[in-house]
Amino acid sequence: MVTTHSLGYPRIGAQRELKFALEAHWQGRLTAEELEITARDLRRRHWQDQQELDLVPAGDFSLYDQVLDMSETLGNLPERTGQPGGHRLDRYFRAARGRGANDDPCCGTQAGEMTKWFDTNYHYIVPEFYRDTEFRLDSSRILAQLNEAHKLGHRAKPVILGPVTYLRLGKSKDGSDSLALLERLLPVYGDLLDQLAEAGADWVQVDEPALVTELDDRWCHAFAFAYHQLKAARPKLLLTTYFGQLRENLQLACELPVAGLHLDAVSAHPEADRLADWLAPHKVLSLGVINGRNIWKTDLSATLDWLEPLHARLGNRLWLAPSCSLLHVPVDLEREDALDPEIQQWLSFARQKLRELTTLAKALNEGRNSVYEELRDNRIAVDSRRQSPRTRNPAVREAISRVTPQLGRRNSAFEARRQCQSKALKLPLFPTTTIGSFPQTGDIRQVRQQYRTGKLGTGDYLARIRQEIADCIREQEGLGLDVLVHGEAERNDMVEYFGEQLDGYAFSRFGWVQSYGSRCVKPPILFGDITRPRAMTVDWIRYAQSLTDKPVKGMLTGPVTMLNWSFVRDDQPRAETCWQLALAIREEVQDLERAGIRIIQIDEAALREGLPLRRSDWQDYLDWAIDAFRLAANGVNDETQIHTHMCYSEFKDIIESIARMDADVITIETSRSDMELLDAFRNFEYPNEIGPGVYDIHSPNVPDQAGIIALMEKAAERIPAERLWVNPDCGLKTRQWEEVRPALEAMVSAARELRSSLQLPAERGERATQ
Ligand code: GLN
Ligand code: ZN
Repeated sequence: MVTTHSLGYPRIGAQRELKFALEAHWQGRLTAEELEITARDLRRRHWQDQQELDLVPAGDFSLYDQVLDMSETLGNLPERTGQPGGHRLDRYFRAARGRGANDDPCCGTQAGEMTKWFDTNYHYIVPEFYRDTEFRLDSSRILAQLNEAHKLGHRAKPVILGPVTYLRLGKSKDGSDSLALLERLLPVYGDLLDQLAEAGADWVQVDEPALVTELDDRWCHAFAFAYHQLKAARPKLLLTTYFGQLRENLQLACELPVAGLHLDAVSAHPEADRLADWLAPHKVLSLGVINGRNIWKTDLSATLDWLEPLHARLGNRLWLAPSCSLLHVPVDLEREDALDPEIQQWLSFARQKLRELTTLAKALNEGRNSVYEELRDNRIAVDSRRQSPRTRNPAVREAISRVTPQLGRRNSAFEARRQCQSKALKLPLFPTTTIGSFPQTGDIRQVRQQYRTGKLGTGDYLARIRQEIADCIREQEGLGLDVLVHGEAERNDMVEYFGEQLDGYAFSRFGWVQSYGSRCVKPPILFGDITRPRAMTVDWIRYAQSLTDKPVKGMLTGPVTMLNWSFVRDDQPRAETCWQLALAIREEVQDLERAGIRIIQIDEAALREGLPLRRSDWQDYLDWAIDAFRLAANGVNDETQIHTHMCYSEFKDIIESIARMDADVITIETSRSDMELLDAFRNFEYPNEIGPGVYDIHSPNVPDQAGIIALMEKAAERIPAERLWVNPDCGLKTRQWEEVRPALEAMVSAARELRSSLQLPAERGERATQ
C-alpha cells in the first residue's frame, strides 16, 4: 500500500480566521487564551481536512512563522525580546514584530529581520546567531500540537525544520561562523526527537530544503555530520526537500542515514527514477507529485503513467504527498462562487489537492478502475484547459514576435537624462518621497468593498477615491515631501489591482495565501495571453497631479513582480508570460507620460524572489527578467524619470543586474538590515540615483530624526550625496496615520538637516549641470 501524507497545511484558515484573531490580539481586543482557542479550532479543522491521509502533519501550524517557531523551540529567540520564562506569547510576538518604544517606554524592541522563504512569497523571521549562542530546548509548542492531534484520533507526523537548513537560513550577527554552532545545536535536536518519540511519534518530518541549493564542502559535511549524529534518535526521520532538484546533492541526500527521503517530484521529476535506483532498500521514497505551490489541476492520468512503474518497483516504500507544504496555496476552491466556471474547473486548492493525492494513491493501490470517475472528470478538465481558445491570443503572439532590444533602450544615457530631469523637476538635494501607498483606513476598505458588492455606484466610488487622493495629497504637502504619490487608495494589492484590469487573468474571492504573520495576499490567476484593454491608472494619477505643483509619481507594478506574485500558467515558459506582461505595462507607462506625468515608479518588489535557488541558473532568469522590465519601462522620453522599488531581500549579489534595469532612481529596503545593502556599493559603483529605505515600515516603531540622519550619513559614505533620496523602506498601507505622520515628519526634517549640514548646492539641477 502507498502511504499518503502532507508536509504542511495552510494555517491562516479558509476565512482568514487566524489573521483576524492575531490582529485582534495585537490590538488588545482578544486575550492570549482566546487567540489560543481560535488556533486550536483551526488546527482541528485542518486535520479534519486531511483525515483521508495516512499521516497528517503536526507542529506545522504557526501563530506567525514556522522558522520563528523553530527558534523558540531551540531557545534561540533574540535576547532583546526578554527572558525565557516571561510571558511566552508576548516574547514570541516581540521577536516577530518588534515593539514600539511608544507603546512600551521601558522596552521598545526591534523586530527580527524578515526575508523570503526560498523562492516563494512567504517571509520568515531570520534566526540570529552569535559566537556564544547556546540552545535550550522548549518543546512545549510542538508537543502540545502533537498531543492535540493524537487526542483527536489522528496519526500525526511532527514537522520540524532540520538543523542544517536552520543554521543556513539564519544570520550571524557578530561575524562568527553559524555553522560552528552545529555541534551545540545537535544535542538539542536529539532531545527534541526523543521527546517526540516519547509523545508517540514514530515518524518525524525533518525539512531540509537547503538540499536543493548549492552546498560547498563544509555544508555537505554538515549534513553528513548532523544526520549521523541524529541517527541514534528514536523516531524514524523523513528528510524532506522541496522547491527544486537535488542535482549534485542527490547522492549526499541518498546516503544520509534517515528512514525516508521526500523529493519534490514536480520540479525534480527526472530525479525520482534515480532515487528509486539509489536509495537503500530499507528507505522510504516520498514523492511530491501534486504541485504544492501552484493552483492548476494535476493531470492525474499522466502522473499515473510514470508513477505506476515506480510503484511496481518500490511497493510499500513509495509514499505520496504534495511537493511542498500547502502553505503556499489557498484552502478551498469550493468556496469560490464567482470564478468563471470554465476556468474554475482547471484549478485545485489545498483541499482539492489532497483529494487528487488520495485518488492517485487509490489508483496505485487498487487499480485505475477503482477511481474511474475521478480520472475521467480529471481528464475532461485537463483537456478543457489544454484546448481552450481563451489561453491564446494571436495578436499578442504577433506583438511579442516583433519585440526588439531597441524597445528596451532609453534615448540617452543616464547622465544626459539626469540633466533633463533635474531641469524639469527642480528637486532639492536628498529629495523626500514615499513608496506609494498610504494607510489603508477602514473607510477606504469599506468604500472599495461597497463598490465591489454594488452598494456604491461608480460615480460615488470615483468621488470617494478622489476625496482620498485629495486628502493624501494635502497631507503630503503639509508634511513637506518633495515627490508626492496618490496613495493607492483604489488598490488593495499591487498585483491584483493590475491583474483585474488585464485580460488573461482570473480572480478568486477567497484565495488567500499567507505572506508573513497575519498578512495574506490573494494572488491572481494568470491563465492566458495578456492584453490591456484600457488605461489602468491614468485617471487617478492625472487627478492627483492636478491638485499640486509638486511632481506626483505614477505608480505601477512591474512585469516581473506581476509574474512572481501571480499563480502563473504552467503551459509555457515563464519568460514568455513575462514579456506579455511587460508589453501591457509599457502601454500604461506611455499613457501616463502622455498625460503629463513626469515621474513613473514601476515596482519590482518581487524581482529577487524569482531568482532560481541555484546560482548557476541565475543569469538566465536575470537576463529575461531585466529585459522584461526594460521593455516595460524604457519607452519614455529623457525628461520622464523612471523609478523602481524593491524590498525585503538582499541585493548585493544582483546589483549589476539591478543597474542594468537602468531606472533613473531605485528605492530599496535597507533599514532592517542596518544599511547592510550598501556593502554592495563597495565594489560596484551603482550608476544611477538611489533611495535606501530609512525606516522599517513593517514595525509600528516611529523612527527619530537622528536615527534617519545616521543611516543617511552611512549611505553617503558609499554613494555620492547628490544621488541619494530619502524614503521609507516600503509602502505605508499597513500603518496608521498616527504612526505615519510623525515618521514622515522625522524623515522630512532629517532631509532638511542633511541638506544644510552637508552644504552642497541646494538644487540638484545646479549640481548636475556643473
Ligand atoms: N507601491 C507599493 C506600495 O507602496 C509598493 C509595495 C511593495 O513594495 N511591496 O504599497
Ligand atoms: Zn516594498
